Amino acid sequence: MSRSDELFSQAQLSIPGGVNSPVRAFNGVGGTPLFIERADGAYMFDADGQRYIDYVGSWGPMILGHNHAAVREATIAAVQNGLSFGTPTAVEITMAEKIRSIVPSIDKVRMVNSGTEATMSAIRLARGYTGRDKILKFEGCYHGHADSLLVKAGSGALTLGVPNSPGIPEDYAKHTLTVTYNDIESVRQVFAEVGEQIACIIVEPVAGNMNCIPPVDGFLQGLRKVCDDYGSVLIFDEVMTGFRVSPGGAQAHYQVTPDLTTLGKVIGGGMPVGAFGGKAEIMDHIAPNGPVYQAGTLSGNPVAMAAGLATLTQLSDDTELYPRLYARVETLVNGLQAAADEAGVPLTTNRAGSMFGFFFTDAKQVTRFDQATACNMEHFRRFYHSMLKQGVYLAPSAFEGGFMSAAHSEQDIADTINAAKQAFASL
Ligand code: PMP
Repeated sequence: MSRSDELFSQAQLSIPGGVNSPVRAFNGVGGTPLFIERADGAYMFDADGQRYIDYVGSWGPMILGHNHAAVREATIAAVQNGLSFGTPTAVEITMAEKIRSIVPSIDKVRMVNSGTEATMSAIRLARGYTGRDKILKFEGCYHGHADSLLVKAGSGALTLGVPNSPGIPEDYAKHTLTVTYNDIESVRQVFAEVGEQIACIIVEPVAGNMNCIPPVDGFLQGLRKVCDDYGSVLIFDEVMTGFRVSPGGAQAHYQVTPDLTTLGKVIGGGMPVGAFGGKAEIMDHIAPNGPVYQAGTLSGNPVAMAAGLATLTQLSDDTELYPRLYARVETLVNGLQAAADEAGVPLTTNRAGSMFGFFFTDAKQVTRFDQATACNMEHFRRFYHSMLKQGVYLAPSAFEGGFMSAAHSEQDIADTINAAKQAFASL
């Protein structure tokens, strides 16, 4: 019995499912989750002392690699001044200005403690601003676990087969309309029927919670146009894609400007941070300037701000960093594709900036939710466990993307591709 096995048995006695977030429990792949003791650079080390090349990166935040010296030192320095004051601090201004300088569509920004809080607050703001109740989202997109957003959701909700969670009143969920990602016609149809009642569209500008599915040409532009035509707010949920797909997120990469943006993950550098921001005219509807209420005891926490700011500073100071990340992702997905082709295993890959995904399917390209869910899950599970055994840690679900970090070396990628050759051969 491994130490992780022992810890998992013990954890289940006092923590539901043994985990504090469902997809960590390995339901998507079966077996025992790794209990991690420490991480450094591209590697994580488990309770049994095994080393893994990590492509999860704490589900996105660790774009610089684990335990980055500048982030660690900035965080420790902040700790020495006290953990929390519940007052305004200068570092919050620095953070807000940094975000504005990187994401030009954001005039004003409010810090929160998670991606869920960011999207929940942005939705409330869009409803308060427009005076409308309905919202539109896409099947397979995940925007955190706020009630109105757990309708046909992706990520862990999809992995566990509960995209519409019990516990959400039907009267409430009925205001959430869902259509097909990458299908602008389905959006236009709904707007033609009830567009005047729709407060906002919320979208992952690159879907990362039904595996990795980039937007097809014209999709994001089409959403912008529909929102303009009907006076609805366009929210890009860049919790995953922000500072990830490009320095300025997916909106910079695809050159479509949303009204509001939600951020998380990278923005906290591994600390619990989220943010929502956008046009000043809309953001000024938030309390205390406006009537839409939103608050947080620990929001803008000085230690969390220090870690996030150090991360964003590293990202914006190193002009070589993003091109290097893109090149590494390209090498990895091309290597995986070639290895699968050679082994005769049907596979296709997607990538967007430093995000990537691979699908066990005969399809040439995956652009839709129904294609992602139709993939060969048995192949995925067997591939997953073979990779894990060989020291490569991928997201333990076929409905999550992968993340490259600045710490992954060419050797790490080569080792990963070699492991994949073995794994494909064993299918
Ligand atoms: N939006 C997106 C696009 C996400 O990927 C996630 C989390 N994976 C969230 C929102 C929710 O963020 P959190 O888990 O920090 O609440």
